[in-house]
Amino acid sequence: MTTRPAPGIYVLGDAVVNFYALVEGADVTLVDSGLPSHYRRLEAQLEQIGRSVRDVRAIVLTHAHIDHLGLAERVRGEAGATVWAHPLEAPALADPLKRSGDAAPEGSLPKHLLRRPAAVRVPLHLARSGAFRAPRVLETSPLRPGAILDVPGRPHIVAVPGHTPGSIALHLTAPGAVLTGDALVTEDAIVGRTGPSIVSAAFSRNTAQAAASLDALAVIDADLLLPGHGLPLRGAIRDAVDQAREAAPSRTDRGKRGNASVRDPARRQQAL
Ligand SMILES: [Zn+2]
Ligand SMILES: [Zn+2]
Repeated sequence: MTTRPAPGIYVLGDAVVNFYALVEGADVTLVDSGLPSHYRRLEAQLEQIGRSVRDVRAIVLTHAHIDHLGLAERVRGEAGATVWAHPLEAPALADPLKRSGDAAPEGSLPKHLLRRPAAVRVPLHLARSGAFRAPRVLETSPLRPGAILDVPGRPHIVAVPGHTPGSIALHLTAPGAVLTGDALVTEDAIVGRTGPSIVSAAFSRNTAQAAASLDALAVIDADLLLPGHGLPLRGAIRDAVDQAREAAPSRTDRGKRGNASVRDPARRQQAL
């Protein structure tokens, strides 16, 4: 069964990676697009709610990591849907496997795996699901943080840079939900943490900036958190943010840039 955590919102994906459908009338927005191997599952999940891939009007990417853009190009082609992403994600959309420059994570995945070998199931799952063959997205429209996007679900776009330079969250005011992508997750399988947290340095560009971006989520009036990884969480978003600040993965696994002061207003401005 496709899970519906709130009216008009459906959880898609599998046990490792979430993406979401926002349904308004006959039309669908996908928030992220999972892994390439999720196509049949997506067809089945949409069929369960009386929709099909051809009903997808928009795909809004929270960021351009390979576990979130897997079906974007395929659905764009088949449904004629518009793919929306922050302009700072453009280089990653054009070359999803790139791991240098702005796409380089702050920490080292091999080091994390040495510390916690069981976590190797995550990259293995991604590999089996075709993540490393995720096709680049050939055409996107630029998201403008602060704006309400005129697509099914009418999400308000919130800038939450750090996990990637152009990470965004979506606030749905009517159901009072926030879809956070990897800016705030409820499970980080690489470090074996369940509960609200930012994502470990193994997959994040700048964990200090990601921690600072929690400020933008804390002020949102919503009581349903729908993350890119982990289960939906009910309760005030600011409480989840408090827990994420407590968990602070950056304390244990922050990289060499981890102490950079993005709380300094001038730097923060630059970062945004
Ligand atoms: Zn990510
Ligand atoms: Zn992810």
